[in-house]
Amino acid sequence: MAKKIKQIAIYGKGGIGKSTTTSNLSAALSVMGLKVMQFGCDPKSDSTNTLRDGKYIPTVLDTLREKSVVKAHEVIFEGFNGIYCVEAGGPAPGVGCAGRGIITAVELFKQQRVFEDLDLDVVIYDVLGDVVCGGFAVPIREGIAEHVFTVSSSDFMAIYAANNLFKGIQKYSNAGGALLGGVIANSMGTPYSKDIIDDFVEQTQTQVVEYVPRSITVTQSELQGKTTIEAAPDSAQAGVYRSLAAKIAAHTESKTPKPLGVTELREWASKWGDYLLALEQGKVGSLGAAI
Ligand code: ADP
Ligand code: MG
Repeated sequence: MAKKIKQIAIYGKGGIGKSTTTSNLSAALSVMGLKVMQFGCDPKSDSTNTLRDGKYIPTVLDTLREKSVVKAHEVIFEGFNGIYCVEAGGPAPGVGCAGRGIITAVELFKQQRVFEDLDLDVVIYDVLGDVVCGGFAVPIREGIAEHVFTVSSSDFMAIYAANNLFKGIQKYSNAGGALLGGVIANSMGTPYSKDIIDDFVEQTQTQVVEYVPRSITVTQSELQGKTTIEAAPDSAQAGVYRSLAAKIAAHTESKTPKPLGVTELREWASKWGDYLLALEQGKVGSLGAAI
């Protein structure tokens, strides 16, 4: 019997650190000995850059625009430690659905039995933030990915995007859609950022998979066109990414989250707003005391 391929989708607001986290996760999983494909689904098409010394690769959609018949191997490029890199790509600016690339690329790979032929252990889809367009929901909706993880900081807009994603997951959860593995808390810096994320996951009945600190090592590595796993394998930050990878490799049970309603989310946010103000004014001392 063919082995089961673990298919994971990483979602989150634009600029929150999806590609950085995903690439480090792919790199760490591959160093663990797993055969990994990273599938960039953001029309920005820069998901796999740090796996390939900062270089862009031709996207599936661009290649399809040049010629009508595309063989899968023409759009798969080798990256760090043998990781297979793919960028779905986006439509020409101002034309068509931005999710088109995902639908097209996934179809192409399915028809050509790419995942089976490459003997993959893990496929990671790096997908744009909110589930605004059907195309972006494809990895969830079609049950292509089995587990979804969301990258979020403690900023309200990132949490808002995560909560929207939870709504999308909940919607398709009874129809064979992907379920939620948890939240990857990124850019943890201030003492209260962890408390905010902890409270959010509690409210929405999910969990934090890993707390990833904001780190200059990530910036340095990115400027060299590399993941932290490649550029600074002995750093503390690389250790955090390896810990994340071990948890995700071992992860089996995902769940349906309980997103907050619009008013609930607003109230939740203003409660934290009041608390942070009181903290700044020295009216509350220890963290969590006023909540
Ligand atoms: P996304 O894919 O969500 O749009 P990126 O992964 O491209 O976001 O990250 C946006 C920027 O934030 C990049 O410059 C990246 O280096 C930086 N970044 C992400 N995570 C961290 C972190 N933990 N520490 C420092 N910088 C980070
Ligand atoms: Mg990205």
